Amino acid sequence: MSLRFLSIARVGSTRKQIAVAYGQKGGNQNVAILEKLVQIRHRLARLLGYSNYSDFAIEPRMPMTSRKVLEFLEEMSEQLSDLANRELTVLKELKMKEEGDAQFGMEDLLYYMKRGEQHKVDLDIGEIKRYFPVKLVISGMLKMFQDLFALRFEEIKDVEVWHDTVRLFSVWDASSSDLLGYFFLDIFSREGKYDHTCVVALQNGCMCSNGSRKVPVAVLLSQCPKEFDGNSALLRFPEVVRIFHEFSHVVHHISNRATFSRFSSLRLEGDFAEIPSLLLENWVLREHFPENDVRLLSGHHKVCQY
Ligand SMILES: [Zn+2]
Repeated sequence: MSLRFLSIARVGSTRKQIAVAYGQKGGNQNVAILEKLVQIRHRLARLLGYSNYSDFAIEPRMPMTSRKVLEFLEEMSEQLSDLANRELTVLKELKMKEEGDAQFGMEDLLYYMKRGEQHKVDLDIGEIKRYFPVKLVISGMLKMFQDLFALRFEEIKDVEVWHDTVRLFSVWDASSSDLLGYFFLDIFSREGKYDHTCVVALQNGCMCSNGSRKVPVAVLLSQCPKEFDGNSALLRFPEVVRIFHEFSHVVHHISNRATFSRFSSLRLEGDFAEIPSLLLENWVLREHFPENDVRLLSGHHKVCQY
């Protein structure tokens, strides 16, 4: 909420007020709790033979040592500092133009990044969403994943679900016609619903002792706006990327062939579990995205068929 506000609030003093209040959530009590937490974690790591808590926490993850993380960050910083400084200068100039000689603070960053984009491409970013009706994005995304992984999704109608907007699909291997799993799409926001976009593994896949396979089941939870007057609701582009990212987790969950449930699908080290979804996001983000696939996901809401 606060981040959204900071990206749209035009009055600098209001942005600052909100950013400071948000940054001080929990008050001084939190500072004391955090200080104690740091000390206890350090003690724990030392007892286990590590020189600090970072080394203990990073050991099971992909970089394995905190030294490697710091080297990576320094390398990134070297490569990006010039570019970042140039872009920051543009944002500072923009603020100077709009608000006079006011100092540029962290609270200005989101607002002027958005203004900078509008300035650069002379386009209201909000207009872009007219090209991403929810229905078209979802149907295009399902088609892309079926083509990419040789899968077949079949919607199961007349099934009991927890809300009438929830859809259930079975997933089949297109060449062998084996049943691979099921997924639910619960994408529209509603009162009382968990307000986060994520994938929940309802059942992991595994081999059973009688030789049959227990198939995985997942649900994609999202907060897309509802349809109005029979028209499909529209998505902002970051929401399109987010749904695509999360649906990649669904396909990852469904497509594995693990023998043991413990090692099935999303039960990987936290950072590695993100790799398939980050790779697949490129289908939405890359500029050499095949033209036909762009058309699967996008079309003006007044003229496209979906
Ligand atoms: Zn993810």
